[in-house]
Amino acid sequence: MNTLCRDCSALFARPPPGGRCSDCGSPRLVGHPALAELAIAHVDCDAFYATIEKRDRPELADRPVIVGGGKRGVVLACCYVARLYGVRSAMPMFKALAACPDAEVVRPDMAKYRDVGRAVREEMRRLTPLVEPVSIDEAFLDLRGTSALHGAVPAQSLARLAARVEQRLGVSLSIGLSDSKFLAKIASDLDKPRGFAVLSRVEAPSFFANRPVSLLWGVGTALERRLAADGIALIGQLVALGESELTARYGRLGGHLFRLAHGLDDRPVVAQAPARSISAETTLAQDVADLAVLTAVLRPLCERVSAHLKAARLAAGGLTLKLKTADFRLRTRSRRLAEPTQIATTMLRVTEPLLAAEADGSTAFRLVGVGASGLVDEAEADLPTLFERDLGQPRRLDAAIDAIRDRLGADALRYGAAPAATDRPPAQSLSRTGRSNRD
Ligand SMILES: [Mg+2]
Repeated sequence: MNTLCRDCSALFARPPPGGRCSDCGSPRLVGHPALAELAIAHVDCDAFYATIEKRDRPELADRPVIVGGGKRGVVLACCYVARLYGVRSAMPMFKALAACPDAEVVRPDMAKYRDVGRAVREEMRRLTPLVEPVSIDEAFLDLRGTSALHGAVPAQSLARLAARVEQRLGVSLSIGLSDSKFLAKIASDLDKPRGFAVLSRVEAPSFFANRPVSLLWGVGTALERRLAADGIALIGQLVALGESELTARYGRLGGHLFRLAHGLDDRPVVAQAPARSISAETTLAQDVADLAVLTAVLRPLCERVSAHLKAARLAAGGLTLKLKTADFRLRTRSRRLAEPTQIATTMLRVTEPLLAAEADGSTAFRLVGVGASGLVDEAEADLPTLFERDLGQPRRLDAAIDAIRDRLGADALRYGAAPAATDRPPAQSLSRTGRSNRD
């Protein structure tokens, strides 16, 4: 069993006697038979915003700290002390303060967090060019082929990364080491904070056996319910059905679940190749010239683009309205946004005037589309508006609608302006260009 000292990065062929590093005496050891070979990592900063605030205000070190906006806002991040009281991120602030009245509430400083996030990423890139950011404070790293360069196996390089980031930037990391992105992501969550967990394909089936199906990438609330209706709650039950039965029951998705349950995930780590655009469009059942009717089509399009941005953890830096006239002429009208957004209502507010300028009442259109471009990480979107009473509302409304649809299905809730179902449902499509392997 190869064993690594997470403090001095010494590597031993077998666990040192006494459970402490023979070189530095640290008890922070991690062991795994494949420790010296595994090279795909997921690196996640611990309670990122809250950790940075504690770093900058040492008097808060032992206090419960919540980063978020006033009583009407939500918790953006909370430290591990606050979590002991039941505070969680995305919780409404009034609930968080009811659970933990003594919490120190700190207003977020996004510019500062972005700077630290960039500095952490720079440290990651010193290990490998293959760094795939997932959000402001987490990334996948592919460290294959780096051992000769660093004179250290990937596990050692990662231990040094964690030590260096903690020392230089005052932020602690949790590391998941594996042979695939899927397992690395799960591993980084096993030992937080200051974690280092190893999970390889070999132990995946036993690791997953008694864990809920929701742990599998791609299993959302809807699929979880469908599986539950079929009597399947645990990943082990899924595996017991066998690949052919799973495929017969759930199609390609069944095969996907079977492979994940066996720790098989061949998505590559892709360095900085974000999706370039996400769009949705509708071909109308009849050609339409009426502005009110055309406007009613916009809302669901914006909602679909919004949903896909959120799923990809991206936000739109620009929006494009696409129209096709009855005689098949294409018109596109674009706007750059002052601030990136994921919110359907904000997209509607931008695209409605573009549409109004084109729909003169006599030109008939056969297709309407909405596209998001200039995509950026969702961490850069919509946040400041949380703290402005009137502008904060769309995001909270958006979140509430998402929550309801998540539980009850996409059609559970519609805006009054959305068109009623017709006998001839319009053709719809949604497309994405650029990379397709974000999760
Ligand atoms: Mg994090």
